[in-house]
Amino acid sequence: MSSVAAWETFPFEGDLQVKCLQPPVLPDPDCNGEAGPEGCTVCRRPLSEALWADEDWRLDAVGAESRLPAVVMLQPRGHHDLSDLPTERAAELGPLLQRVERAILSLDGVARVHVNRWGDGGAHLHIWFLARPAGMLQLRGTFLLVWEEILPPIPEAERRQAHREIATALATEGGTAYAR
Ligand SMILES: [Zn+2]
Repeated sequence: MSSVAAWETFPFEGDLQVKCLQPPVLPDPDCNGEAGPEGCTVCRRPLSEALWADEDWRLDAVGAESRLPAVVMLQPRGHHDLSDLPTERAAELGPLLQRVERAILSLDGVARVHVNRWGDGGAHLHIWFLARPAGMLQLRGTFLLVWEEILPPIPEAERRQAHREIATALATEGGTAYAR
């Protein structure tokens, strides 16, 4: 293992081996929604499943359970990725990132919000927000998403309460809270 195993935030201990790299798969395979909105799971998801939405954006919970105080995704309602996001939507994105972060920071016990954008799973732009619990210094930084996979789930009532609080906070500046 490289020195990454010595990081304070590295979630594992004991003997671990780095996997061998497999040869490239070319051409790189399509991801969900790459062919257009018809096959896109985000475009087909009803608005009633969102936590919050306005005319152009929606915020959704990620997964059926959570191991952090909040794990949510901001997505445009139109089928766009970052590189083809219309100019108006792109201009809205900065203020929206701030709004979502403020809404999550308003939860009790949240110290930081990590904002991530990957794109290997879906071609419909989706921006992750992961709440890092206050005082949990081992959960700082890039391994937070790994910790989200391995910590015990938080109680469902707490998870839903956090969703309602985030949605309500967002709706004070516009849009509709759908979280129940
Ligand atoms: Zn889509």
